[in-house]
Amino acid sequence: MMADATPASVSRPLTINPDGRLAGRIALITGASRGIGRAVARHFAAEGAHLILTARTQGALEELDDEIRAAGGQSTLSPADLTEYDTIDRMGAAIFERFKRLDILVGNAGVLGTLGPLAHADPQEWDEVFAVNVTVNWRLIRSFEPLLRMSDAGRAIFVTSTAGHRPRAFFSAYAASKAALRMMVLTWADELKNTSVRINLLNPGGTRTAMRSKAFPGEDPETIKTPEKITKYFVELADAACARNGEIVEVPALLAAEEKGTK
Ligand code: NDP
Repeated sequence: MMADATPASVSRPLTINPDGRLAGRIALITGASRGIGRAVARHFAAEGAHLILTARTQGALEELDDEIRAAGGQSTLSPADLTEYDTIDRMGAAIFERFKRLDILVGNAGVLGTLGPLAHADPQEWDEVFAVNVTVNWRLIRSFEPLLRMSDAGRAIFVTSTAGHRPRAFFSAYAASKAALRMMVLTWADELKNTSVRINLLNPGGTRTAMRSKAFPGEDPETIKTPEKITKYFVELADAACARNGEIVEVPALLAAEEKGTK
């Protein structure tokens, strides 16, 4: 497993507000074991959501679950390799059985693959990148659309990347898969525009995680923003009051505007 660039020790202690913006909302977060997904899970928990946490690394999920419960929050673990697609269907059935709805879906799990010339990409790795970054998210859509429709205000957020819309040499399968994810999610948002479900993408920009370190090994991680800096934008899109649909929230531009505003 890759080393986590955002270990639990650097996060602030978790305080739960049971009457927070996401109080009582049932939220499934993929890739919750580390990086952006873990930070989003902690912020959602702080806002009172009941979390369903999934990723392959059971130990990391258990650690997060312990922290959330110790702070008085609620979470349910569902460790899985999501490319074993049937597990997603089983998760859907289990969530229906227990909650009869899903309020928030965060499709965050992703893999970078190996950066390099397209012509040299490894075919097996190409398939794996598309499996995690595209097909898993389609299977989530397929399994969870009915449950999101059962919510009074279903919200879905998928994590995209600048690499998916601005060509950058050597980003290979990762760039192509994020472009595919973007169009898939925007298509789905258009399909459901007349429902109470709201579906958006979020581009975090460079964020201090294991994936970022793998993509830019020469970079000093201290110069890159932490995942905690961006989680509020996920909360906004997850909020029942969010009216946006079919948008791509560009976090770097929002942060830059905020910084300008404070100067
Ligand atoms: P990390 O590598 O830190 O985390 C990736 C997460 O995805 C982990 O929790 C991992 O869990 C999970 N995951 C990967 N493969 C699978 C699988 N087969 N089944 C289940 N879970 C899986 O990356 P980040 O936090 O940086 O990335 C999160 C998202 O943000 C990704 O979609 C990424 O593309 C996107 N992004 C990140 C940027 C950055 O600068 N960090 C910039 C732009 C976009 P486990 O290994 O335990 O299964």
